[in-house]
Amino acid sequence: MGLEGFLRDIIGSLGDDIIIADIDKYSRDWWPLAMLLDKLNAWTAKPPVVLAPRSASEVSYIVRKAGEYSLCIIPHGGGSSVTGASAPRDDCIILTLSRMNKILDFNIDDLTVTVEAGVILSELEDWLNSRGYTIRHVPQSFHLASIGGCIATLCSGQYSTGYGSIEDITVNLEVVLPSGDIIWTRSITAPRSSMGPDLKYLFIGSEGAYGIVTKAILRVLPIPRYRVEASFEVPSFERGLSIIRELITRGLTPALARLSDDIESTIRFGREKPVLLILYESNYLDILDVLWGKAMEIIEANSGEYIGEELYKKWLSSRFNYEDDIRLIDSMDLWFETLDVAATWSKLPQVYRNIRKALDEVREKPIVMTHASHFYITGATLYYTILYRKDPELYWNIVEAFMKAALESGATLSHHHGVGLLRRKWLKVDPGQSTVILNSIKKALDPKNILNSNIIT
Ligand SMILES: Cc1cc2nc3c(=O)[nH]c(=O)nc-3n(C[C@H](O)[C@H](O)[C@H](O)COP(=O)(O)OP(=O)(O)OC[C@H]3O[C@@H](n4cnc5c(N)ncnc54)[C@H](O)[C@@H]3O)c2cc1C
Repeated sequence: MGLEGFLRDIIGSLGDDIIIADIDKYSRDWWPLAMLLDKLNAWTAKPPVVLAPRSASEVSYIVRKAGEYSLCIIPHGGGSSVTGASAPRDDCIILTLSRMNKILDFNIDDLTVTVEAGVILSELEDWLNSRGYTIRHVPQSFHLASIGGCIATLCSGQYSTGYGSIEDITVNLEVVLPSGDIIWTRSITAPRSSMGPDLKYLFIGSEGAYGIVTKAILRVLPIPRYRVEASFEVPSFERGLSIIRELITRGLTPALARLSDDIESTIRFGREKPVLLILYESNYLDILDVLWGKAMEIIEANSGEYIGEELYKKWLSSRFNYEDDIRLIDSMDLWFETLDVAATWSKLPQVYRNIRKALDEVREKPIVMTHASHFYITGATLYYTILYRKDPELYWNIVEAFMKAALESGATLSHHHGVGLLRRKWLKVDPGQSTVILNSIKKALDPKNILNSNIIT
């Protein structure tokens, strides 16, 4: 009844082409469990309707009408969430930003680009690259994810170590609130402002719970002219971590670093020892030479052995072949999950060991590959690719064992994938007490609970 009246009003005001006819691709996102259940014909979720507005004012109109009819909305960008965050549920309307994909303004003086939230990352990056610029934000979902979805999930890309993640790239946001009001998080765009808390952070990582991001102003950079790409073998995963820590603390932060443990190195690179991939970039060859020379000294002094560029290039060129990887895993009658945690340097070795041990003890021990790929002055993320027999019950045993071991070892339960349906139940322990604040903000902004409420307990 509510939905019928709502649609009548929406079509009357916005036209019937606001409704997307082909809704199959909105029936789930890339959460591996949803994909598995779908294969087993056990995933039944389907949105009642998918709406594709063309402007912030249309988004605002839809949100207001949803409030009037007490309906809920799930914002949808590229649908590449790996946690079920953009999957349909509870009869919620899906609102896709896919038609709001324009690049609105490129300001070379200010080094900013203003985009509609539905623009796909690779489309924006191609557009910028053809003009000599970049946002240097390349997650593996580069060809799938939208800017708005990236902002909403606190996304992180392969250059995060050198150039930061989406929170460092985002300067200002236009958001449609659950009331339907359209606001900018800052009325004046500036590189930084201390006129009150920076409310962009309320929406970055909020998974659509507090508002729908409709535009973003992002910082851009000229593409660096020179680069050195290299691969090393290191004696152990722990030793590899301490090498990267030393590079960073000595002011030699690479643009990209990726350290695979012995299992991942064997499977992905055919190498028995952990493989470390490193990229340095600069606009000056002499600066690059110095950076690279100093980095080499440190890596070799720590028993890292230079093994050329080939493995780096191999990794880079196969980075977006994830559908082939999934087909291969499927053909072995296995399925997968990818889980990402983060911890400070002192805790990383125990996080690594304890999660491995916990997963080894799960009934029907899974295959577990680990790499570290986002590094900070204070620590890093560990990313696990887990292969297991196709069994949803076994899946949850693995996830439970993983989360428990991560928490006991002092790691946060996600570095960039977010909460979604996968991690909701752990919110009460991570972030813990501050969920009280998240809940209060949600109630204040969205008393009718119109928007996605994943991150709310
Ligand atoms: C193969 C693959 C590789 C991946 N690699 C990475 C990686 O390297 N790094 C990484 O960080 N993530 C990665 N991901 C996860 C995923 O791509 C990211 O989380 C991405 O940021 C999601 O963007 P999206 O546009 O697809 O969002 P969606 O899946 O559409 O939505 C994700 C969440 O954001 C909300 N949302 C979407 N758009 C908006 C909006 N405009 N306003 C408010 N809320 C919104 C949705 O409601 C949902 O809660 C990967 C996923 C896949 C499938």
